[in-house]
Amino acid sequence: SLDQPLDSASTATLQEWESQLSQRYEAFKQANLKLDLTRGKPSSQQLDLSNGMMTVLGSDLSNEAGTDLRNYGGIDGIAECKALFAPVLDVNSDEILVGGNSSLTLMYFAVMFALHQGFGDLGDSWASEGKTAKFLCPVPGYDRHFSVCEHLGIDMIPVAMDENGPDMDQVESLVRQDDSIKGIWCVPRFSNPTGIVYSDEVVSRIAGLGKIAGRNFRVFWDNAYAVHSFSDDSPQVASLMAACRAAGTENSVYLFGSTSKITYAGAGVAFAGMSAANLTAFKAHLGMTQIGPDKINQLRHARFLKDQDGLAQHMRDHAAALKPRFDIVLKHLNEGLADSGMLSWTEPQGGYFVSVDTLPGLAKQVVGMAADAGVKLTPAGATYPYGNDPEDRNIRLAPSVPTLEEIDQAMAVFVTCVQLASVRQKLA
Ligand code: PMP
Repeated sequence: SLDQPLDSASTATLQEWESQLSQRYEAFKQANLKLDLTRGKPSSQQLDLSNGMMTVLGSDLSNEAGTDLRNYGGIDGIAECKALFAPVLDVNSDEILVGGNSSLTLMYFAVMFALHQGFGDLGDSWASEGKTAKFLCPVPGYDRHFSVCEHLGIDMIPVAMDENGPDMDQVESLVRQDDSIKGIWCVPRFSNPTGIVYSDEVVSRIAGLGKIAGRNFRVFWDNAYAVHSFSDDSPQVASLMAACRAAGTENSVYLFGSTSKITYAGAGVAFAGMSAANLTAFKAHLGMTQIGPDKINQLRHARFLKDQDGLAQHMRDHAAALKPRFDIVLKHLNEGLADSGMLSWTEPQGGYFVSVDTLPGLAKQVVGMAADAGVKLTPAGATYPYGNDPEDRNIRLAPSVPTLEEIDQAMAVFVTCVQLASVRQKLA
């Protein structure tokens, strides 16, 4: 670590740092590293935790209702999975649909149905209003949410986030002004990428948006990391549906989740929570795309995870794999960059990411320098709509897959890149 903050260093000190850091950086380049801190997915160690799922099913492939799950049907999923996942979203068991392996697919369909088909008895499609629909996108956020909007021709408006969630003054004022704003993307617990948890006040104000926004506004509440905490006392997020019931806005929200980071990322179970009225319309639309989901996989999940206790215990096993990896990332940031004036970052208590902000104008450069030294990072800008981080500051670090030793090496390189880029900018 450097012995004083960037701002108080003299030119002579900066020049000395520059030469030391350049040497260190060149040495990393010579080492031919091949390290990767990009996509957030479970490690094989984590995937192994669910291998028991492959043997829980004997030859009896009926559920408690006596349905032969090998056959077609049941667009909203099996009762056992509804009972298991409704508490995860905190909705009633008649307010959930359990689907295939991807919540992103359910989200894409939900946006597409709202845009083109409408909400059944609840209202017309967004497209029928004749204006380009817009979504609010709290930033930094999840790139695939932004791709859904881009793919469907929905305009995106970035809104700021802080440690409590989206800036609700900004959100409320925007939806009041513009009735073509039809949605907002939210990752309320261990947000991708900042790891923050929405405060109770933010949740309650989000539940209120349905009263002040234009027609057929929907909150897309992607609770992808709902149960993905590092410890039992990590912060909880308030119940959106409970807040909506209090505000009378149940029809203005769609909730999503999946077991992609609970069981298998490629063969999990996804679910969506919504009011019974929304669910009726959603099921009718979804029924145009398939006769029913993979109910055998759903049964496997229900038998393997069993109940809320089983799920909680399983998530503790994930935490045991994840927490030490995050600890190494944070140790490097704290030792190398605390009080340096070069980088700020979050210390998440769950989820899959650490989000860092460089000095303005340096994120792309740092990602490029790390790549040249063999450390792959998520492209700078990926956490913003259209890949455009206007200040070029945010970088998402995803440490779940590499080994502890690999993270240790990758973070040593990363810290050096941040230091060197910052010092060079200061000298320029
Ligand atoms: N939402 C968020 C916020 C995510 O981070 C991810 C995975 N990276 C997903 C959704 C994808 O979920 P699924 O695998 O269920 O499609």
